Amino acid sequence: MYLNSSYLIFMVPAFLIMMLAQWYVNSTYSRWSRVPGRSGLTGAQAAQKLAQRGGLNVSIEQVAGRMSDHYDPRSKALRLSQGVAQSTSVAALAIAAHELGHAMQDKEDYGPLRLRAALVPMVNIGSWLGWILLMAGFALNFTELAWLGVIVFAGGAVFALATLPVELDASARARRLLADTGIIIGQEEQSGVSKVLNAAALTYVAALFTAVMQLLYYASLVLGMGRRR
Ligand SMILES: [Zn+2]
Repeated sequence: MYLNSSYLIFMVPAFLIMMLAQWYVNSTYSRWSRVPGRSGLTGAQAAQKLAQRGGLNVSIEQVAGRMSDHYDPRSKALRLSQGVAQSTSVAALAIAAHELGHAMQDKEDYGPLRLRAALVPMVNIGSWLGWILLMAGFALNFTELAWLGVIVFAGGAVFALATLPVELDASARARRLLADTGIIIGQEEQSGVSKVLNAAALTYVAALFTAVMQLLYYASLVLGMGRRR
């Protein structure tokens, strides 16, 4: 019942696009990780400089992992992976500035960031409640209950959609900040920054696509169930 033709139609393209986006972001990151920026600043130094310039009170910390960089709004901490914090590469500068863009969004109470944060508990509950409702709907052959499960699952797609403006805005800020402060020098570095940030944005588009396809897959299962009755 679960490995049917609609699984192939919806989920296989979603997996392929996710893998393609992952491959693209990895190869773009690797390529620009080998190109040092002429400013000579490391990702951590660039973040420090941009934070001071923007009057942001954030702590800049180092975390384990590759591409594990993120900004934590609760502890006002900018956490950079070693490959970003200690590297002077164009990729490192782009990512450090992007995370700083999130810190600026937080300081300015940027609406889409607040919306996304508000969705987190809903999505966390939805990811298991959706399953329970869907499974119970199937087990009891109760179509309305299964539809309720699909609706609860839709929270995941809404979250993925709300993530897009937040990420694109952080990247736009990063590009602006790096150019304005002279951390990024010249056309080639500028284009490297854009490529790294665009590749990262593509993974969020792929995540949205996957969430929508997953939703359509569940919906197709429930539709099939209605027909069998
Ligand atoms: Zn981001």
